[in-house]
Amino acid sequence: MFQFFHWYIKPDGMLWEELKVEIASLAELGVTAVWLPPTYKGNQGSSDVGYAVYDMFDLGEFDQKGSVRTKYGTKEQLLAAVSRCREVGVQVYADVVFNHRIGGDEEETFQATPVNDDNRHEVIGEKREVRSFTRFTFPGRGGKYSPMVWTKDHFTAVDYDINDPEYKAVFLIEGKSFDSAVDIEKGCFDYLMGCDVDVKHPEVQEELKRWGTWYLKEVGLDGVRFDAVKHIEAGFFPQWLQHVRSEAGRDVFAVGEYWSYHLDALKYFLNITGGAVTLFDAPLHATFSRISKTSPDFDMRQVFDGSLVSQVPELAVTIVSNHDTQPLQALESVVEAWFKPLAYALILLRRDGYPCLFYADYYGTKYTDKGRDGNEYTIEMASHRWLIDKFLAARQEFAYGDQYDYFDNPNMIGWTRSTGDGRQGLAVVMSNAGRGSKRMQLQMPNATFRDLTEHQDEIVTADNEGWAEFRCCERSVSVWVPV
Ligand code: CA
Repeated sequence: MFQFFHWYIKPDGMLWEELKVEIASLAELGVTAVWLPPTYKGNQGSSDVGYAVYDMFDLGEFDQKGSVRTKYGTKEQLLAAVSRCREVGVQVYADVVFNHRIGGDEEETFQATPVNDDNRHEVIGEKREVRSFTRFTFPGRGGKYSPMVWTKDHFTAVDYDINDPEYKAVFLIEGKSFDSAVDIEKGCFDYLMGCDVDVKHPEVQEELKRWGTWYLKEVGLDGVRFDAVKHIEAGFFPQWLQHVRSEAGRDVFAVGEYWSYHLDALKYFLNITGGAVTLFDAPLHATFSRISKTSPDFDMRQVFDGSLVSQVPELAVTIVSNHDTQPLQALESVVEAWFKPLAYALILLRRDGYPCLFYADYYGTKYTDKGRDGNEYTIEMASHRWLIDKFLAARQEFAYGDQYDYFDNPNMIGWTRSTGDGRQGLAVVMSNAGRGSKRMQLQMPNATFRDLTEHQDEIVTADNEGWAEFRCCERSVSVWVPV
């Protein structure tokens, strides 16, 4: 899977055009699915990344929030890019944001109870009158595709009272309760931002299903990436998916963003959703970040400890980084550049997990934004394309068969794959400290190997039992494949 965007994509409306041009070569490298950013209108109009969702039925078609197009282009350009993806055999995954709506068209006044933002079980004041932009009429769309007008009845809470903007609280709307099957951080992490969508409301459920059916027809859909799933009643996802899968008449892939480094929290969600939704392996990402900052002290034999892929491999989507973890973003958690090739080898060349590539890691990028201290920073993310392409080639041509791990040294680990018929196989060795080598075996006696990464220029020949000594450089990875 390829995440075809990052947070700081230029807001020039050209991403769909770029996708149309790029997708054929990605397909050739072995990319089978592309994860698009939210394709609908956000509160910041043509500069909104899409997560501050305003209108899910506006795919860059209506003059709303100051523009017709979204950050990525018009609906026409989106449809053209999607059909190009289909032509080259790449599946399209839509980013689906159910948790919140932002940028209501009109204000409403209602009764609500203020609760502590840090502990949602703690009421911090009397029930009071709150004024907020909770009425969404979508005047630019004028009822096309869906007649629904959203009001305070469809939301659980807001965090802003126009009457008292200084008062910091989450305002639980009268008659509402927070979802229960959500993350336990902050007591109950149902509320994240904006107008929190009440997925327990029958009209909301109906509307979100209507949207799914509509999106299937308008754009087509092979899969979805659910945003912010730890803030939404978990049981809603299988319900919605069942609807969409039955409308589609086929399977629709689903991956959820449950951004927690606690494996137990992820497993709780997987239990409730009964295997209907896979999850990004956030704990593995956290380990990658830690190794990259603490090496050589980190014991590489523990790289998969606490990861989802080690325990529930069939439901794990493995990543190195994404639009939220990139520098200056809310969940900033950086995997240092030197370690990224090792991390990509770990997700692309092993048997388990469904790997996801990140646009900014692949193409590289440079951008400027304010940090948490209020100062401006310019960030440069290096392109790892040259090596990732090598890994993708290795994955397509050689990464098959049984896997044998040689996790026997705290600073140098390796593994081999081989099919047993002598045709396909590879040996990977990586170090988070000095250079060295590892003796490993493949079911390929007397075969000769070369390092696809070109870090080593020697040719290695296995003995008549398939053993050979495979080298790698300092803080590096080598991928040995049959000559
Ligand atoms: Ca919520």
